[in-house]
Amino acid sequence: MAILCPECQQSLSTIKYMSFQIETCAKCGGMWLQAYILDKIILAVIAMMQRMLS
Ligand SMILES: [Zn+2]
Repeated sequence: MAILCPECQQSLSTIKYMSFQIETCAKCGGMWLQAYILDKIILAVIAMMQRMLS
């Protein structure tokens, strides 16, 4: 069952970004992802930045 875009009610297509699944909307270009995935991406970005700074 496809998830609908909260903005324009289009069915979203799933893409893979870093090992995470993200729902994207072809109509409005929106990216929708579940909160726990966002948390993981933020943690991954923070870890990456800490590696760059050290
Ligand atoms: Zn949309």
